[in-house]
Order: sequence, then C-alpha cells, then structure tokens
Amino acid sequence: MGACILCEEQITNPLCPERIEEQMSTWLNERQPELITKFFEVSSEIISKNSSFDRCIIKDKSMNICPYCYSQHILHWLLSISPSWDLLKEFFLHFDYYREHLGHSLNENSPGRMSS
Ligand SMILES: [Zn+2]
Repeated sequence: MGACILCEEQITNPLCPERIEEQMSTWLNERQPELITKFFEVSSEIISKNSSFDRCIIKDKSMNICPYCYSQHILHWLLSISPSWDLLKEFFLHFDYYREHLGHSLNENSPGRMSS
C-alpha cells in the first residue's frame, strides 16, 4: 500500500474511507439521524480526493487516504457542531483509528505530556 496523501504516512490499515463512511453513517443514523445529510457532505470532501492505485481489501476500491485522516476530518466536523459528550465518546469507541497511527498517539495516560 502507498502513503496517505494527507499525512504522508504509509497506510497500514487496509480499510478504505468508503468503508469507514459506511460504518459511521450507520452509527450516526441510529444516534442522530438529523446529522446524516451534513455527514455525507463533510465525508465527500475527503472521499472525492481518494483515488490512487492502492486498493481496499474489503471493497476492492482505490484508496490513498488513511483511516486516521478520514476519521480526523469527521471528528473536526463533529466538534464544530458541539456534539453531546455521549456522542463523542461513542465516536471514539467505534472509530479509534488514531491508535494505529504512528506518531499521532493520543493516549491520555502516556507520561511526559504535561507541558506545551
Ligand atoms: Zn493520513
């Protein structure tokens, strides 16, 4: 697989954004269906950039945006609309792709993050 065009890290998770979009929209549709139209709008900003020779093993579609960058994009939008804390918690529970992203660990328990 190649590198992500947004963060330039090698893509190690073979899930394409379309597949994650499916999972997120299913989840959001159950939780807050009124957000689903806007979700697809925000999502397509990323999906439309997604074209390369790499292919998702599940959908056999091209991919060059990593799951982390896709979920970050959605997360930024979610934060911008001031979601409920419960909704955010569920988002992190279901779509925690940042854990697999080297150099972008958001582990709150890691020591040495006191300053800055
Ligand atoms: Zn990326």
